[in-house]
Amino acid sequence: LNNGLLTAEEVISAAIKRYDQDLAPIESVEAFVRQIIGWREYINGMYWFLGPEYKELNGLAAKKELLPLFVDSSKTKMNCVKQVVAQVETRAWTHHIPRLMILSNLALVTGTNPQQFLDWMREQFIDAADWVMVPNIIGMGVHADGGRLMTKPYAAGGAYISRMTQYCKGCEYDPKKRVGDDACPFTTLYWDFLDRHKAQFSKNHRMSQQVNGLTRLSDLPELRVRAKKVLQGLSDGTV
Ligand code: SF4
Repeated sequence: LNNGLLTAEEVISAAIKRYDQDLAPIESVEAFVRQIIGWREYINGMYWFLGPEYKELNGLAAKKELLPLFVDSSKTKMNCVKQVVAQVETRAWTHHIPRLMILSNLALVTGTNPQQFLDWMREQFIDAADWVMVPNIIGMGVHADGGRLMTKPYAAGGAYISRMTQYCKGCEYDPKKRVGDDACPFTTLYWDFLDRHKAQFSKNHRMSQQVNGLTRLSDLPELRVRAKKVLQGLSDGTV
């Protein structure tokens, strides 16, 4: 499909035929068809629709230089990031979910410049076709398009990563903590990210509940201090 030897219609018809012949369960066929039409074709169509300027967008004014851990996985103690970047170093590939939940999430909550992050993804990944990378990074990954592709940023803290992966068990940080020396950088930076952009996000009804959560944080001043330290440590390759 990616090499242009098959069309979306051909692969969908083949999958539905299997279902009609009782050779594939409805859940699998439905998920497959939804991935092809609802995501792959949507992304492809949006890439051409949004035009060449789309990749230059930086709607959250993210200015941070690309973190050293992206070019050397030994430059971080965050187990999830270290493992996923190491996969990319050895295989030039990792699955869509860690690309989004770990790599793009980190770029998003650290305020990494979207174009530097996009260039890194293009250079590192063996399947880095422009029409795949540009909308997935600029739109879905780091929300640099102000919501033209997705209605809300995909930002997540350590508790979510802990629920969805095995990485936290081998990590020296605690996913439940947002302040303190052993607080998970994702958890600290998730709240700091919401705090930094609260004026913009509170106008988005899909984000207002998350932004309101800030009012429950009695340790917000302490968290802001910790976030500055974490951001500096990530730039120095010591976090
Ligand atoms: S504790 Fe935080 S940094 Fe460590 S693996 Fe879990 S999410 Fe990643």
